[in-house]
Amino acid sequence: MYDFHDDRWIKNIKQIRPAQKEVMLTFDDGPSRKLHPLLDVLKEKEVPAVFFWQSRLLYKQRPWKRVIQEGHVIASHAHNHKNLTTLPKSEQYKQIKTSVDKIRKITGDNVHYFRPPYGQYNEETMDILKELGLLPVMWQIAACDWENKHTPERIVANVVGHCRPGSIILLHELEQTLTVLPQLIDTIRREGFEFALF
Ligand SMILES: [Zn+2]
Repeated sequence: MYDFHDDRWIKNIKQIRPAQKEVMLTFDDGPSRKLHPLLDVLKEKEVPAVFFWQSRLLYKQRPWKRVIQEGHVIASHAHNHKNLTTLPKSEQYKQIKTSVDKIRKITGDNVHYFRPPYGQYNEETMDILKELGLLPVMWQIAACDWENKHTPERIVANVVGHCRPGSIILLHELEQTLTVLPQLIDTIRREGFEFALF
């Protein structure tokens, strides 16, 4: 069993730990209705991000072009957010392969990064990722934005003081995340960190 809290594992999946005080923002579970306003904030603040999308939500009409044009990365979060560890290998394969195929078909770009739904994976998942040439990307800081619909200030509090060089921050394409995103970005910068894609 792999344990993503295991530091050796994290070094493995990230390959390079940036020496600079840089962190990376990641948004899971889109593309959602909040995508446009989230992109507006990221553009205004000049912050790049990685979007881990459920491919079932990706249609041609979604603003995927804007995501790419504005310097962000589209990555896979499987097809319909099933816990992969509950599925036989053939079904896991389908979830992952369908998602990267659909993203490539619509955007024309190959997918390089994968984040398993619920952060759950097993050795079979890893075998599939290797076979498909995908790099698993987990996170070090969970902002727990999904738990703070009515208390968005806690999203910022969950991140403040936890950033380290190379930290990957987990966010979602949610209303409350949008509400605090400018403040979150400003606070992280005040702590001396910049935003980058690793
Ligand atoms: Zn998710």
